[in-house]
Amino acid sequence: MLLTAKYVIPVSGPHIEDGAVLVSGDRIVAVGTRQDVVAAHPGEEVRDFGLAVLMPGFVDVHTHLEYSVFRGAVDDVPYTAWKMQVQRKEPRLAPADWMDSAVLGAMEAVGSGITTVADITDSGNSVRAAKQTGLAGIVYREVSTMDKRQVAGRMQTAEADIDAWRALAGDDPIEIGIAPHSPYTCHPSLFSAAATLASDRSLPVAIHLAGSRDEYDFVRYGSSNLAQDFREQAGWHDVAWMPTGVSPVQYVLQWGLFDLERVLAVHCVQVDERDIDVLASHGVSVAHCPRCNAKLGMGIAPLRSFFEHGLTVGLGTDSPASNNTVDPFDEMRIGLLLQRSVSGESDFYRYFTARTFMRLATIHGARALGMEDEIGSLEAGKRADIIAVDLSSSPHMVPTADPYSALVHTANQKDVLATMVAGRMLFDRGEYLTVDKERALARAQEIRDKLRG
Ligand SMILES: [Zn+2]
Repeated sequence: MLLTAKYVIPVSGPHIEDGAVLVSGDRIVAVGTRQDVVAAHPGEEVRDFGLAVLMPGFVDVHTHLEYSVFRGAVDDVPYTAWKMQVQRKEPRLAPADWMDSAVLGAMEAVGSGITTVADITDSGNSVRAAKQTGLAGIVYREVSTMDKRQVAGRMQTAEADIDAWRALAGDDPIEIGIAPHSPYTCHPSLFSAAATLASDRSLPVAIHLAGSRDEYDFVRYGSSNLAQDFREQAGWHDVAWMPTGVSPVQYVLQWGLFDLERVLAVHCVQVDERDIDVLASHGVSVAHCPRCNAKLGMGIAPLRSFFEHGLTVGLGTDSPASNNTVDPFDEMRIGLLLQRSVSGESDFYRYFTARTFMRLATIHGARALGMEDEIGSLEAGKRADIIAVDLSSSPHMVPTADPYSALVHTANQKDVLATMVAGRMLFDRGEYLTVDKERALARAQEIRDKLRG
């Protein structure tokens, strides 16, 4: 099939006016001007999107699909209070609710132009939801406990799940990894055990790290709400915790996780130059979640310093539980605006641009997951993960000047016209082709009633 549009943004090179992308099976075969591609491949079925952009699908490097029904459930409190309130509501949901919540999340992702997610879960619902919708990604099996006595058991169950989820994923483009949750929910021996398993089984790893100031204070000084109220609520009040005297990054460094190949550190807001040196020297990638970090009062990650240290950074939404919409356009725009707010006018030559954030949301995200050879740009041989974004039929989108600028400064998730993963159309002009939208929305309302109050 030949996809054509006014603009093709391959991300790996300059944009092409009156461009075309040729897809065969699950692969991209050619990218170029419409004239050239048609001349080289006559007789192909053409699908024209008009004044629109064809670009690689977005890579959401951090989410929790099954938390989608928590949208709006806890909105106006800072990080630790948010975490605790969400945790208190969790038991109200039945297993089927979690599953339908994950489907809602996968649907929203697909409708927003996201083609690959890096999801953290302990239930495996994300694997099933991704399969059902056709979404690709890495699903990390979350492990957590502060109680050393529970570590072996937790790891055993996790390993069995990883095998089961791999079997479930089958030939679909869904990889399974492991995610020790965070420094405030994992005993050090759990980090070591997870590192050993990841090394033995060649698993990608994700960890929430240096997100909030409360986490920093907990790790370094043994204080903050995470040391008191949260541990009480989590049932770890009788498990000792001593101040470590170091930052969360320096603390986790000791337990072997950073020595692995594909490690993704989520948030990395509360970091200093030494911490960034550690991440860079170990080749740890960062999932930057600017909107979630702002909303929960976690702070603004030092993106300029990440770049100067050569860190690989992708953009993550962190699910509607903390971020209300899974909108990669909002993520790019707000991420860009926050960085400009702190860098100021004097930084003219290093001013953050729309193109930079387009790369973070696509090819850099792919690189952060160790998948840049397969996804993240429109190039012959890569998987056909392609989206079309409208630039012409909504009042807020016209007139269009520069397509990068239109995508980052103007567009939103509603402007996505089509989403294709591995050559298969999943979303097309408002229609979800793989899931029942009416059922998903009705179920979300039902589940929402359980979360009120
Ligand atoms: Zn998260």
